[in-house]
Amino acid sequence: MNIILLYGGQSAEHDISILSAHNIAQMITYEVYSVQPVMITRDGRWLQGPKLSAPPAYEGQLHLIKSEEASWGENASDTSYGVEISPCEIHQEDAIVFPVLHGPNGEDGTIQGFLETLGLPYVGAGVCASACGMDKIITKQLFDHVGIPQVPYIAFDRREWNEDPDALINKAEGSLLYPLFVKPANMGSSVGISRVEDSEALVQAINLALEYDHRIVVEQGINADEIEVAVLGNDDAHVSVVGRLVKGASFYDYEEKYINNTVDMEIPANIEESLSDTIREYALKAYRAIDGSGLARVDFFLTSNDDVYINEINTMPGFTQFSMYPVLWERTGLSQVDLVEELLQLAIRRHEQLA
Ligand code: ATP
Ligand code: MG
Ligand code: MG
Ligand code: MG
Repeated sequence: MNIILLYGGQSAEHDISILSAHNIAQMITYEVYSVQPVMITRDGRWLQGPKLSAPPAYEGQLHLIKSEEASWGENASDTSYGVEISPCEIHQEDAIVFPVLHGPNGEDGTIQGFLETLGLPYVGAGVCASACGMDKIITKQLFDHVGIPQVPYIAFDRREWNEDPDALINKAEGSLLYPLFVKPANMGSSVGISRVEDSEALVQAINLALEYDHRIVVEQGINADEIEVAVLGNDDAHVSVVGRLVKGASFYDYEEKYINNTVDMEIPANIEESLSDTIREYALKAYRAIDGSGLARVDFFLTSNDDVYINEINTMPGFTQFSMYPVLWERTGLSQVDLVEELLQLAIRRHEQLA
C-alpha cells in the first residue's frame, strides 16, 4: 500500500506541519508501505516528491521534498525538487492519505471534503468533525450542549463589530472579567490570539483577530495549568494518560510554542486519579460531541482549586517527535510506530464502513 503524506499547507502552521510529516515518515513500517510525499507550498501549489521506500535521511535538515521556497532542504545533498501536480493527481489506487495539515485549509474539513470526493481513505477526523473542531464558536456551542464546563465567553462576527463596536465592548466588559483572550474562531498555534487587560487593548486585539477570521471569540482569562489528553479511535475511541504543560509563560503563544520552547511536559500529570478520570471522560465526551474519528488532542484548564474547564479540541494535533499527542501515547504504552499503524488502520476501517 502507498501512503500519501500530505503536508505543508497554506496556514500559519506550515512549518510545524513539515516537522510533523517528517516524524510520521520516520514511524512508517516500510516493509508494508511506501510513502509518497506531497507538499502544499505556502502559496498553494502541490509538489510531489520522490517516493520513499525507507525512512528519509535526516541531516539536521528536513528534505522530504526540496522546493525552491523551502530553505529546510537547501543543505541536503540527496534531495530532488518536487514536481508540481494538480491536486486531483494525488489520486492513486490502493492509497491512504495522511493529511498532516494543521489549521485552516487542512484541519478544518476542506481537505477532508476534497479527499472524500476523490474517494480516498484518509487518516483523522471526517468533514464534520474537522470543521466543528476548528471553529471555536461551534465547538463551544457543542461543548455547552453536552455539558462540559468552559470559561465564560462571548462570540460575534465582523458585521456586528462594524455595526456597533461600543455595544460589543460593553457586552464583553459587562459579562467577563479581565484579562481577556481574543481569538479568531478558525485558527491554531495561537495565531491571531491576544491576551488583553483593558478596553483599548481589547479593541486592538479584536481588529487583529479580524485579520484572520470574520468570527471572533472573547473569553475570560483564567489562571490555570494547561492539561492535554490524546484520543484515538473511531466508535471505539480510547483516551491516553493526562499530560500537563509546565509553562515558562502565562500565555502559550506561537513564540513560546515553537521558538522559545519554554514548555515542558509532565506526563502523566501529577494530579489526583479521580481528577484525571474526570478530564479523560470530558475528553471522550468532547470527541463524541464533534463526531471525532481517528485522533484528536483535547485541551483543558485546571485551576489550583481543581476546577476543570475545556479549552479546545485539535483534530490534527502537532505530531513531531516531541509533540504532546504522540508522546502521550508513548507514555500510555503505545509506541509512535504502533500509533501511526493504528491511525492507518482506523482510516481504512472508516472508509470501508462508509463505502
Ligand atoms: P493550538 O495550537 O493548540 O491549536 P489555538 O491557536 O487553537 O492553539 P488556544 O488553545 O485557544 O489557541 O489558545 C492558545 C493559548 O492561549 C492556550 O494554550 C493558553 O496558553 C492561552 N489561553 C487561551 N485561552 C485562554 C483563557 N481563556 N485563559 C487563559 N489562557 C488562555
Ligand atoms: Mg487549537
Ligand atoms: Mg491546533
Ligand atoms: Mg490550543
